[in-house]
Amino acid sequence: MSGRIKAEDIVYVREHAHIDDVVTAAGVALKSAGGGQKKGLCPFHDEKSPSFHVTPAKNYYHCFGCGVGGDVIDFIMKTDHLSFTETIERLASQIGYTLRYEEGGPTQPTSKRSRLYAAHVEAAKFYRDQLNTSVDAAHARELLTKRGFDKAACDTFGVGYAPQGWDSLTKHLRAAGFTIEELEEAGLSKMGERGPIDKFRNRIMWPIKDISGDVVGFGARKLASDEEDQGPKYLNTSETPIYKKSQVLYGLDMAKKDIAKNRQVVVVEGYTDVMACHLAGITTAVATCGTAFGDDHIRIIRRLLMDADAFRGEVIFTFDGDAAGQKAAMRAFGDDQKFVTQTFVAVEPDGLDPCDLRQEKGDLALRDLIAKRVPLFEFAIRTELKKHNLDTPEGRVNALATTAPLVAAIRDKSLRPEYIKSLAGWLGSEIEVVTASVNTALKKVAQTPTAPQPAAADDSWRPNPQEPTLMLEREVIKAKLQMPGLMQDWKTIEEAAFTHPAYRELRKIIDSFGNEIIELEKITDERMRMLFTELSVEPVRTDGAVSERYVISIVARLREVLVSRKIAELKSKLQRLNPVENQNLYNEAFAELVALESEKRGLHEQAMGSL
Ligand SMILES: [Zn+2]
Repeated sequence: MSGRIKAEDIVYVREHAHIDDVVTAAGVALKSAGGGQKKGLCPFHDEKSPSFHVTPAKNYYHCFGCGVGGDVIDFIMKTDHLSFTETIERLASQIGYTLRYEEGGPTQPTSKRSRLYAAHVEAAKFYRDQLNTSVDAAHARELLTKRGFDKAACDTFGVGYAPQGWDSLTKHLRAAGFTIEELEEAGLSKMGERGPIDKFRNRIMWPIKDISGDVVGFGARKLASDEEDQGPKYLNTSETPIYKKSQVLYGLDMAKKDIAKNRQVVVVEGYTDVMACHLAGITTAVATCGTAFGDDHIRIIRRLLMDADAFRGEVIFTFDGDAAGQKAAMRAFGDDQKFVTQTFVAVEPDGLDPCDLRQEKGDLALRDLIAKRVPLFEFAIRTELKKHNLDTPEGRVNALATTAPLVAAIRDKSLRPEYIKSLAGWLGSEIEVVTASVNTALKKVAQTPTAPQPAAADDSWRPNPQEPTLMLEREVIKAKLQMPGLMQDWKTIEEAAFTHPAYRELRKIIDSFGNEIIELEKITDERMRMLFTELSVEPVRTDGAVSERYVISIVARLREVLVSRKIAELKSKLQRLNPVENQNLYNEAFAELVALESEKRGLHEQAMGSL
């Protein structure tokens, strides 16, 4: 164990890691939201229009959709599932800062995840060196050359070679200081009968990087014959603390900028297809790693493609071979039709995958394939039509019977009439016949029960931001958090001025920091952290300028409301008192009332005068 990170280094990282950069690097496209704020699609919940705000000036983020919020450190902890120390180490490396540790500990990162990342960097380098220099890698180089990849291409993608021997990499990494436990956890080594051995042997290796460019795993293609190696043709890193196959897209680190810029992503099937596309100029290509393109992938892509308030962009799938139609149909008519209207399919008529196509017909042919994409619904329906002989009446009837339910399954109602027209054209049938058939299918769809909705989280503790009677309390706390320099009268506000328990509690927490900077992780109550970031980020509600006068005015108005409440209570008390029997009490209360009335006038003038 090394020592703790020096406190001043934590402060340095917190100040120099900018929330907007960190959020963007995590794949969330940000647009200006006015008032110095930026917004994008929330990485913590599924949404179509952006409610995830960041405030660069404060280095905070907050989502008004799901309530999650925090600072730059908290963001990385949540998105990457890291500990505090791991997060500081990660951010430090992103901003190129070398951390120092207490007690003269090593200057190397030593948290578990950082060790796993470091092991992958070293392994990728080892594999690359093997491919470039080892005589045993000749067959690997030959195969890559045959598929159209020269040394420069392999270097660009960091392609490597895992040697034939049992434990070459394991030995190499142990000599570099990694323990067997670390190598097993990283998925690079495994326990054999006579000790630890390499997980990957005699394979071409593709380093798989996460969106920020860190190597988190490998994809490995078999080179030996099936008799020599009974493993699958492609083998990937199994799930590890840093590798989640449902959340990685091969090539995303290279493609992310152009995906956001060109508003297009091309989803191919293999590592060589990604390489072929990028080399042919399709720089928006990515591939899943040993798994289908799923919901997590959709979310990642959607966050990159976010533009202004809506998703705009194209997702183009290239499916190869016979299964293309089936895969397209699954995509088109599966549960998630959220962005299906922007989804296209590019299928090569001869069944060539992008890598083969580039190899046989060149870069231009590959670019042409992508350019000739077809809308997903059209492709799925026409694939079904191909199974029937449309030259006979029986064939057309059968074709209509199987394709009408597909049109009925299109959730976007506005699209259905278009596809009814198209289907009638493809079939050579009357529109009325197709419409009737689709309507029959629709009735069946309507009878299918829908899944129950998950229960909403309990947030009854949360003050409603729209509640008019609480608006002033909310605005005052926002001013305190967002413009502390303009807030002079904070201490004069009585505790009772905040009527909502959550506001009162937050006020206490703010005061407990005194003049110190409020550090989010020191707020231990999760709900208070949420409210704190929400109010730190939510735009101030004013038509005028956010000035010191404005702040004085809202504080005075808040205090005036409290004084008015006290006056009302006192008046009702006076009514109940008999001035003759309780003369002293009555006089005291009356004097108090006069004082309160005077205070109220003062506050009112202050509130109005500064408006
Ligand atoms: Zn959210």
